[in-house]
Amino acid sequence: MMNSGWVFDNSYTRLPELMFSRLDPIKVPAPETVILNHSLAEVLGLSDLNNNSADLFSGNTIPEGAEPLAQAYAGHQFGHFTMLGDGRAIVLGEHITPDKKRFDIQFKGSGRTPFSRGGDGRAALGPMLREYIISEAMFGLGIPTTRSLAVVKTGEDVFRENGPLPGAVLTRVAASHIRVGTFEYLAMRGDVEATKRLVEYALNRHYPEIRAEETPALTLLNGVMAKQLELVLNWLRVGFIHGVMNTDNMTISGETIDYGPCAFMDIYNPNTVFSSIDHAGRYAFSNQPHIVKWNLSRFAETLLPLLNPDKNIAVEIATTTIESFDEKFAAGMLSMMKKKLGLFGDDADDENLIDDLLALMDKNGADYTNTFLSINHDDIQQNYLKDWQQRWHSRLQNQSQPFNLSQQMMQDNNPAVIPRNHKVEEALASASEDGDLKPFKDLLKAVKTPYKNRPELAPYQLLPVTGSEEYQTFCGT
Ligand code: AMP
Ligand code: MG
Repeated sequence: MMNSGWVFDNSYTRLPELMFSRLDPIKVPAPETVILNHSLAEVLGLSDLNNNSADLFSGNTIPEGAEPLAQAYAGHQFGHFTMLGDGRAIVLGEHITPDKKRFDIQFKGSGRTPFSRGGDGRAALGPMLREYIISEAMFGLGIPTTRSLAVVKTGEDVFRENGPLPGAVLTRVAASHIRVGTFEYLAMRGDVEATKRLVEYALNRHYPEIRAEETPALTLLNGVMAKQLELVLNWLRVGFIHGVMNTDNMTISGETIDYGPCAFMDIYNPNTVFSSIDHAGRYAFSNQPHIVKWNLSRFAETLLPLLNPDKNIAVEIATTTIESFDEKFAAGMLSMMKKKLGLFGDDADDENLIDDLLALMDKNGADYTNTFLSINHDDIQQNYLKDWQQRWHSRLQNQSQPFNLSQQMMQDNNPAVIPRNHKVEEALASASEDGDLKPFKDLLKAVKTPYKNRPELAPYQLLPVTGSEEYQTFCGT
């Protein structure tokens, strides 16, 4: 078959063999392309995809140079340790783009693997389209994320609680699929040599700019902490709730991964949880930074033998590093919120100004996204915000930067549109039930350039007619 521009160099296969299992995706009976991401294909240097995309992205034909494998990993799921692995995913290989960037090309929903446990290894069309649109929205928001290259129907049904659903395979593009859980897997096996190899590998692949001054393990821990901190601040900035921040869903690259029960918050409420199984609110909106720190602690534990030969000293190094998270997060949060409000410089009252706005939003059931857009309006409609707006105005007047710079900063940090749950559901229903992709593609177009407010966005800025508080998302779909 045609090569289509693939350039594979599969460095993961050169890691210790206990880290993966080689196997091809299971073939599917009647592949049919649902959506192809042409702009991403272009960035990747792929061509001629139109002619053979269904065969290619169903896993029915394997391009030359690919070395498919399922990765082994473990993870803390809702706090409990489990051995996992790619149960319904296959990494086709690592593709090198024309500008020499390395990406994992992964199929999700490509059939059973040695790690499938009780699962069927398959995925349904709705959830794969959901990952497609939310990951592309995330990319549009400028937030580190895996991306979606294609969704292909398999021609086979998958069976879920609500009956048979059309099966599908998503092609995911990621900086890598190394997770905190990958390190946990090696630590559980007690394989310090393999852990050391993986530390070096991860540093080379994701942190080439920082060279180890201390031990490589500590360099990596600090690097991952900085990236994950940045990531969660971005999520908080745009109202994103990941929903299942288990350690197997936290990447070492700092990209958002595994769009399962995730969703964007409409009405501001720090306790918002959408996932049907998150009864205790472990992964609630405002608990996400706390969980990032908890996951980083699990990561640090896997590195202990490499941090120092003396266990006590190693624990001390790890603890000191992890404990620096809170202060860094507080500083990052203040800086992020100041950008949302267009504030330059420091004022002793800034934290109060921010907290008071959030409290007013919480108390009055304000929409998170739309409120940050509206505070800029002189004729602000919400009476409860008027006093606050006056305080904000006087703060702006006391800074030397002109107002247009503040406005620009606010525009760059406050999305005018997010993929709202009711719009996502509407788009998915017509795509998977009626085979009509128009609402999906329209929504995709809207969320691709989210920072530029424009009249076409109006339908996507509206809140659902019925309460968004009852919205629920599901895992393992
Ligand atoms: P997730 O919640 O998607 O991060 O998945 C957690 C674990 O369950 C991973 O190891 C997945 O590979 C596995 N898994 C999820 N769905 C399936 C499925 N349908 N068949 C087999 N394994 C699955
Ligand atoms: Mg996962």
